[in-house]
Amino acid sequence: MEETNKEVFEKVVKIAQSRGFVFNASSIYGGLRSSYDYGPLGVLLKNNISNNWWKDINNDNEITIYPVDTAIIQSSEVWKASGHLAEFSDPMVDHKPTGQRFRADQVPDDINKEDLTEPRQFNLMFETNIGPVQNENSTVYLRPETAQGIFVNFENVLRTMRAKVPFGIANIGKSFRNEITPGQFIFRTREFEQMEIEFFCKQEDQGEWFNYWVNKRMEWYKNIGIPDSSLRLREHENNELAHYASKTVDIEFLYPWGWGELEGIANRGTFDLSSHEKESGKDLTYFDPLSNEKITPTVIEPAGGLTRTLFALLCSSYDEEEVNDSVRTVFRFQFNIAPIQIGILPLSKKDELIEVSEKVNTLLRSNYRTEIDITQSIGKRYRRQDEIGTPYCITIDFETLEDNSVTIRNRDSMIQERVSIDNLLSYFIDL
Ligand code: ATP
Repeated sequence: MEETNKEVFEKVVKIAQSRGFVFNASSIYGGLRSSYDYGPLGVLLKNNISNNWWKDINNDNEITIYPVDTAIIQSSEVWKASGHLAEFSDPMVDHKPTGQRFRADQVPDDINKEDLTEPRQFNLMFETNIGPVQNENSTVYLRPETAQGIFVNFENVLRTMRAKVPFGIANIGKSFRNEITPGQFIFRTREFEQMEIEFFCKQEDQGEWFNYWVNKRMEWYKNIGIPDSSLRLREHENNELAHYASKTVDIEFLYPWGWGELEGIANRGTFDLSSHEKESGKDLTYFDPLSNEKITPTVIEPAGGLTRTLFALLCSSYDEEEVNDSVRTVFRFQFNIAPIQIGILPLSKKDELIEVSEKVNTLLRSNYRTEIDITQSIGKRYRRQDEIGTPYCITIDFETLEDNSVTIRNRDSMIQERVSIDNLLSYFIDL
């Protein structure tokens, strides 16, 4: 990582932790490596991203996307059919003198290659047991992706929702991978959240739908505030394609250490439905009323990471600027994404000002995410609201008691405006 980027990365991590976005997991016990808990602001931010994702994938009148929320622990046969039991592994090497383990393609430069064992396959799925007796039949796995929960429910959704191809099924939730080299904060963790869509279409339309999803997903990242210049598309070479994919395009983000994956859009063909049909013996075809025949739909999969998107947003929203000889730190989140949209700051803790602050809060809180902030000097409170990315602050001062007006401060321009409390709601609605 270049020195300046490293500095930015460290600052983003520091603010995320000190301001209540992300905490080290089990921190009172010294922490668990590469495991994180999301704090109040992190949860709000994560919910805003996932709600926005759901809204966006549903904004096209031409297609329907059905939601599912599937179990983390499924029958082990699911992972046999999907290929995860056989294929979901990385080649690993051990460093003999220290016992450290690395992914064969990610051995640090300072390690003597002659001290390494031969590469061995290492399955990335977390294994556990179900029920009171431990034996080979009780072995189950934590899901390594949300996608398979969709395929095994294809027929359920088709039947109960009377779905017509083309349509999509979306699943969002935690996935688990025993990553050998987790790191770079929440970029790569062993427990993370995914947002996946399986889009079922006719084979002859696969190219069109593939392009549709690449464009739509790329636009979404821009719409939530990630700049164009930090995003690019990268098509996979033949030798890096996963066993199920005939074509994959990654949406990449410019992380502080360089370009890396944010989302992958893959053409999975009929691989998954055919495999599950074979393994389960159930009919997973679709009756096409136009051609009067049964088909196995082709699948286009936009697979994104919710926690990785949150990290990308933290990195791309972070900004510093010099104001009156001191440096102001800001997360420039968009209004619809910011964890707190409006900070309400009474100038002092006097009862009369607190009372008005509560009145203003009651007025706004059913439409917006608000927070009354009364601790510390007004300058420090502005600083904190800037650091957590609050787009607007409302200050209630002694004049408010006389003229029923408040001061609204814009986070980015820092321009302050006097607005009557009676007009506050329409001020924000008009934005
Ligand atoms: P990578 O090459 O970074 O390991 P992948 O190609 O294995 O990712 P997919 O299986 O395509 O990832 O998963 C879809 C998305 O899930 C990724 O684009 C990423 O946003 C997210 N994701 C995958 N693994 C992790 C992880 N260990 N931590 C956080 N997010 C992850």
